[in-house]
Order: sequence, then C-alpha cells, then structure tokens
Amino acid sequence: MPQKSLLIKNGTVAHSDKLDESDILVLGETIAQIEKNISFDADRVIDASNMLVLPGGVDSHCHIEQRSASGLINSDTFYTGTHAAALGGNTSVIPFAAQYDGDSLIKVVEDYHQLANKGALVDYSMHMIIAGPSQNVINEELPKLIKEGHSSIKIFMTYDRLRIDDKSILEILNKAKENGAMVSVHAENHEMITNKVTELLNSECYHPKYHTDSHPVEGEVDAFERIIKMSEVTEQPIMIFHVSSEKGLSVIRDAKKRGVHFFAETCTQYLTLNSKLLDQEIVTDGAKWICSPPIRDKNDSVALWSGLEDNILDCVTSDHAPYSFDSEGKFFKGNNPNFKEIPNGMPGLHWRLPVILDHILQKKSKLSILDFVRITSTTPAKIYGLFPKKGQINIGSDADIVIWDTNKNMLLSDSMVVDGSKYNPYKDFKVTCWPKEVILRGNTIVEDNDLKADQGSGKFIPTALSEYI
Ligand SMILES: [Zn+2]
Repeated sequence: MPQKSLLIKNGTVAHSDKLDESDILVLGETIAQIEKNISFDADRVIDASNMLVLPGGVDSHCHIEQRSASGLINSDTFYTGTHAAALGGNTSVIPFAAQYDGDSLIKVVEDYHQLANKGALVDYSMHMIIAGPSQNVINEELPKLIKEGHSSIKIFMTYDRLRIDDKSILEILNKAKENGAMVSVHAENHEMITNKVTELLNSECYHPKYHTDSHPVEGEVDAFERIIKMSEVTEQPIMIFHVSSEKGLSVIRDAKKRGVHFFAETCTQYLTLNSKLLDQEIVTDGAKWICSPPIRDKNDSVALWSGLEDNILDCVTSDHAPYSFDSEGKFFKGNNPNFKEIPNGMPGLHWRLPVILDHILQKKSKLSILDFVRITSTTPAKIYGLFPKKGQINIGSDADIVIWDTNKNMLLSDSMVVDGSKYNPYKDFKVTCWPKEVILRGNTIVEDNDLKADQGSGKFIPTALSEYI
C-alpha cells in the first residue's frame, strides 16, 4: 500500500529560524517537503490560510496517573491526561515513573510503561523519580534503564518520603555523568518549609492561603545555590524545575553568568497566576491553586517573563499534577482540611500552550512566536533527547504539527475540562488562539476539539542524553 500523504497549504509556518508562508508535505509519519506552492496529489489537503503552523508542544514536566508517596494516585489516567494534552496542542509529554524506598526501579518503570502503553494518545518518554536510592537502584538498575532509553532522572530535595540526602544526590549525579543522563531537581530547602509549617499550624493558621507562607522564597534560593554547586562539582548538567520567584531567578541568572552549564524552567502558573487566588471567599476554593512551590506575587511573574526573554529560563512546562476537587483528591483528608492536608498540584496540560501563546500574541511579553516554539517545544525536545524527531518542523522530523487559529475568542471554563481535576485553574481567562487541528506523526488526533485518536496510539520515545545541549 502506498504511504498516506497529507498536504498542509498556505499556513504561516515556524521554521527553525523564521516564520513564513509555506506548504508542508507529510508522507506517512514524516515531514517530506517544506516549500512554497507544493503541487502533490495528496490523500488529504488542509488549507491553513491565516493560521499559524507550529510544531506540536512538548510538555516535559507533567504528572500522569502517578502514585504519590502516600499511595494516593493523581486524578488522571494516561488516557485522560493525554486527552487534555492533545486538546491543548501537545504531541509529546514527559511524565514520571515514581520509585519509592524499597521499590525496584526496573519494576516501577515497567508498571508505568504498561499504563502509558494502554492509555496514551500522544507520544511520551519518562523521567524516573528516584526516592529510594539504594546501591542496587543506583549501581545496577539505573545504568541498565539509561541504556534502554530512559535518560532522565528526577530527584527531590524536599517532601518527607521523596527527598534524598546530599550523599545520594551526588551519587546520582555521578552515575548520570558516567552513563549519560539528565537530572531534574525539585529544589526547595526542606527544613525551612517544615519549620514554617509547624509555626503556622501552631498559630492556628489553617487557611489555604498560608500554603504560600509555608514555602519561603529563601528555601528556593538556598536549594538552588546548593544544587548548582553540586552540579558544578560533579560536572553533571541539571534541570532546575519550576522556578517560582524573582529571588530564585537571580540565583540562576548569576550562575549562568558565571558560565555554569545547567537548565531551568518555569511553569504557566508562575507566569500568569498569583497567590491572591488562594484567598477565596469560599475558603476551600483556595485548594484549587495549591501547588509546590506556591504561585507567588505579580512581581515574581514579571521577573520570570523577563527571565524567559533573556534566555535565563530555558522552557515553560505545565507541571500538570491534578487532584480532583472532591473527596477523592484535594479533600481526601476531609471537607475542611488545613493547608498542609491538601495535595499539592494543579492541572495544566490543556492550558499551557493557549495561555502562553495568547500572552505573546497580545504583546504582553517581548517574546516572539518563534520564541514560543523554542520554549514550549524545541528546547524541551533538545534537553531531554527527543530532538530532532520532535520539537521542530523540518524535513525528516516526525509530522507533529499544530494548526493554530489565532482569530478565535475563547473564554476558558470548567466545562472544557477533560482531565481528572474537574476544575480549570485558568477559568475566566480569555484567549485569542486555539488549536484548530493537532497532528501526531501524520495522523490528525484532534480536530476542532474533537478527539480523533485511538486509546493507546501514543508511542514511547526512547531517549539518550542529547547532543544538542
Ligand atoms: Zn512536578
């Protein structure tokens, strides 16, 4: 049978160095030709006049169907999480395989593969969370898994059952260096948080708004400084996850200016929301915006946008971590929990790209459309080894393409939600852009918000440490 062909005509296409009007010919799963006025008798022709044609989003930080240390599973399956991802213009995601003390890392990775293989609608690779760094895990299992295409590790400096000590962090950084893997870090000072939590609860400060005070910015500053030093000592590049504050950003700016080679991301919520949202009239509503690190003040968001403009921050992810707004999720400890009893995390896979692109199209930032592609698709693909297959519109790359309608007025609402959270933290945001069609490896997976993909059609992408970073 001849390969299936698709011709996308007259769209404004994001190439690696410029935007211009071009046609794209897709043969099978791959981009075969990009030129003006391609004439080809394709099986399907899409007229993308007045539309933006961008590479599919790569959301490199999202928690899907993940088991927490307490056993509570977040409120998504791979099906619902990647459904949200696809509707929001993403064609690849990097969720987590979460290992806890006593677990075999190999078994954990196998289990998450089974879940993803059954449910995923978009392509995926995986970060391996190591929270139980035994000698067997680090010396035997980890090198084997890295060789098999799992080149990304995640570690925590806080959370009781997740954090590991400096000795283990250094061992993992050394092992990553030896075997060629990236290490991402949740960097906050654990004792500063614990100390604040105790102080607040002792003073009967229970309201969700105190979550913000319980994670002092200084905890981010301290942990960033220490993990950057550990990265320098081991000469192992790291990714600092979810930078939330102006002061945290300064630490990164200074270290990068000194020439230290590492990466840092921020997330949609730190750029576009602020801590006032935690102080709602209906007290429990504030739970919707509890995530860690917490969303902070307007001036922090302004600083983070400038960090993206100056290339100090490398990418924007969602840190999608949904807990449903009911007794199965946010209120699993009862209807009137104190801030510490509410699971940390909010949904974002569906909202990241439209919210960020809209901000740029509205000229609220100095970033360009090409910058948008860089921070939400190309750079994450490069950092985690998905590039050049993913993260660009180029001949030979996977035909992962999103056609964006930029003349669309959308009011974001709870009724749009397809992930397991049952609420939209960006409710009442107005955006002027929305994915008209989402194409994964040449196949349309979403058209006008209708899901066209079959459950389980997303594929695992084995990765190796990237040569592009
Ligand atoms: Zn996260």
